[in-house]
Amino acid sequence: MEQITAALAEVRLDAAYASRYPDQLSGGERQRVAIARALIAQPELLLCDEVLSALDVSVQASILELLQRLKSELGIAMLFISHDLAVVRMLADRVCVLFRGEVMEIGSREQVFSPPYHPYTHSLLEAVPVPLKKRKPARQRTVTSVDVGTGCVYAGRCVAEIPGICGTMPPPWRETQDGLAIRCHHKLEDLLERESGLSRRGLEKP
Ligand code: SF4
Repeated sequence: MEQITAALAEVRLDAAYASRYPDQLSGGERQRVAIARALIAQPELLLCDEVLSALDVSVQASILELLQRLKSELGIAMLFISHDLAVVRMLADRVCVLFRGEVMEIGSREQVFSPPYHPYTHSLLEAVPVPLKKRKPARQRTVTSVDVGTGCVYAGRCVAEIPGICGTMPPPWRETQDGLAIRCHHKLEDLLERESGLSRRGLEKP
C-alpha cells in the first residue's frame, strides 16, 4: 500500500484513488494511474506507446508535463512512440522516423528537425498545422497499394523518387559525422536543396 501511495503521489494523484474503479476516473486520471502502475516496478525504461492519444488537448498538456518531470526527476529513459511531431519535438532527445516498420532517419532531436530531411520526414513536417495558417497537405503521392520489392519502402509515395532506382534498389545510409543517419538514394547535399519551404515555416529548429 505504501508503494501504491508513493506511485500515485508521483503522478500527482491522492491516495484515495487506489480504491477507485476505472469508470470513476477521467481519461487523464486513467493515464496517470497507468503511468503510476508502470512506476511501481521501478523501471529504467518506460515504453510510452501513443500515451497521449484519445486525450483532449488540455489533458495531453498535463500528461506531457508529468512525463517531462518524471524523466528529469527519476532519470527514467523513455521510448516514446507517437504520430504527433509537436510532442516528439518537445520530449525526445533522440528521434527515429519509421515508415512501414523501417527506419528512415535517426538522429538527435535538433538534427531530425533541421535540414537535411529524409523525404518522408519532410512530408510529415509539412503536414504539421501552423497556427493561423492554412494547413498544407503532406507532399506525398497518393497510392492505394505499392509493391516496392527490394527497393525503398517509401517508393511509390515519395515526391523525390528516382525512377528506375528507388523502386528496385535498397537505399544506402547517408551519415553525417555528428550522428545523423538518413536512408535515401539522394545525397545529403541534394536533400538540403529541397528544404527552403520548411525553413520559411519556422520548423527547422526546436
Ligand atoms: S530512396 Fe528514393 S523513394 Fe526512398 S526516400 Fe529516397 S528518394 Fe524517396
